[in-house]
Amino acid sequence: MRQTDSRHFGMSALETPTLAQLTTIGVGGPVDQFVEPQTEEEFIAAVCSADAAGLPLLVIGGGSNLLISDEPFHGVVVRDKRHGVSALKTGIALNETAGAVKIVAGAGVNWDDFVAFCVSSGFSGVEGLSGVPGTVGASVVQNIGAYGQEVASSVSSVRVFDRKNGDIQKLNPADMHFGYRSSALKSSMYSAPATPADHYFPTPRYVVLSVSFMLQRSDANEVAFGQLAKALGVSMGERMPIVAIRQAVLRVRASKGMLEDPGRYASRWMQGCKDQSNISQAALQRILAKLGNGVVARDIEEAKPDFDRHSCGSFFMNPILTQAQAATLPEDAPRFDAMLSDGRPGVKTSAAWLIDHAGFHKGHKVRKEAKAGLSTLHTLALTNRGGADAGDIAELAKTLQDGVEERFGVRLVPEPVVVGMNLR
Ligand SMILES: Cc1cc2nc3c(=O)[nH]c(=O)nc-3n(C[C@H](O)[C@H](O)[C@H](O)COP(=O)(O)OP(=O)(O)OC[C@H]3O[C@@H](n4cnc5c(N)ncnc54)[C@H](O)[C@@H]3O)c2cc1C
Repeated sequence: MRQTDSRHFGMSALETPTLAQLTTIGVGGPVDQFVEPQTEEEFIAAVCSADAAGLPLLVIGGGSNLLISDEPFHGVVVRDKRHGVSALKTGIALNETAGAVKIVAGAGVNWDDFVAFCVSSGFSGVEGLSGVPGTVGASVVQNIGAYGQEVASSVSSVRVFDRKNGDIQKLNPADMHFGYRSSALKSSMYSAPATPADHYFPTPRYVVLSVSFMLQRSDANEVAFGQLAKALGVSMGERMPIVAIRQAVLRVRASKGMLEDPGRYASRWMQGCKDQSNISQAALQRILAKLGNGVVARDIEEAKPDFDRHSCGSFFMNPILTQAQAATLPEDAPRFDAMLSDGRPGVKTSAAWLIDHAGFHKGHKVRKEAKAGLSTLHTLALTNRGGADAGDIAELAKTLQDGVEERFGVRLVPEPVVVGMNLR
């Protein structure tokens, strides 16, 4: 277990990472203690020891859904070191009879390594989630979703450590209460939307140790999203090879800057967190995407970092409104059937549409020289344009929230876990 402690060594910058070095948006202050357990036992021990000492605990995965303040984090950051695909392979158990395959992945396994492994093995069910940054453990915390798939539909059970009862439990899908970008684990962190609970924040009460997936043994699957069907030149619902679906998803995501920057894995603190061959593939695809956008090959090496990728992905949830609230929106605002948290029928609208129609377009900055800005490729991604701190990102986020509320009466709720700052 790698364990570094800035207090003991007295050299925070050298001995422990900053949260800026561990997160995709590249902001966040120094941490007191950083622990990388290599076994499940060490993982649980690290969690228990932080809780017993009454220290703030951040179990971190890929750091792709976190916005953390620049202040020092006077607690323990734990990152499960069981990253490799080897952790994945050893966990496989095949169910030959049902045409289904069960795969067990450790919490620390990189999510896209997992998807790449499934697709190359001919296991369908998660190919639409190609390129979502982060880890297997966090995928079930917010029930990741994209291009017509949600992780909830392939999870068969989640093995967790319950910080309250101090025991290991197996949670079935019904226990997980999966919803739109939510789960029982995420709910355990909040007392109201964007309002942290007294306990179990910024890490849920249930720490994910591993996830069991039930996938189909099949080289093909239905194309479940219009934009994807268009990219593939087929109709919605048509069956396509999962290898082709994965490639199309990665291309579409690259065109919107909704992939992480593979360059982050070169840093000292990220090395080993993702399979090297998948990093190389991602780097190659990044070059191809740039060429596709008209960038000349010789300029690529010298080009600035991909600031459009230095984000937390979609920064705001798509709001689910009451029917009365939705009726006040302009006629052309997107509307989809959805369920309110109390079970009543509601209407989901698009956060990106609201932001854009409130006058904040791609590339928007609060000031010309600001170091944070909306992605130039995606209205919903707040990005670090180089040298931004958490305050810069928060200023932009609040400007968008206030502007949308003033224009449409809807307060946008952040999707990332916001630590040490108030973005209500
Ligand atoms: C460019 C980009 C694109 C994105 N696109 C999508 C998308 O299409 N769809 C989507 O749903 N999301 C998307 N996201 C958001 C993000 O990728 C997901 O939320 C992802 O699951 C976060 O994983 P992580 O390991 O990085 O979690 P982190 O950011 O490290 O942590 C997030 C939360 O999960 C908790 N957590 C982490 N590991 C564990 C564990 N083992 N047990 C319990 N809690 C844990 C943390 O404590 C924290 O509260 C995108 C992000 C980026 C940067």
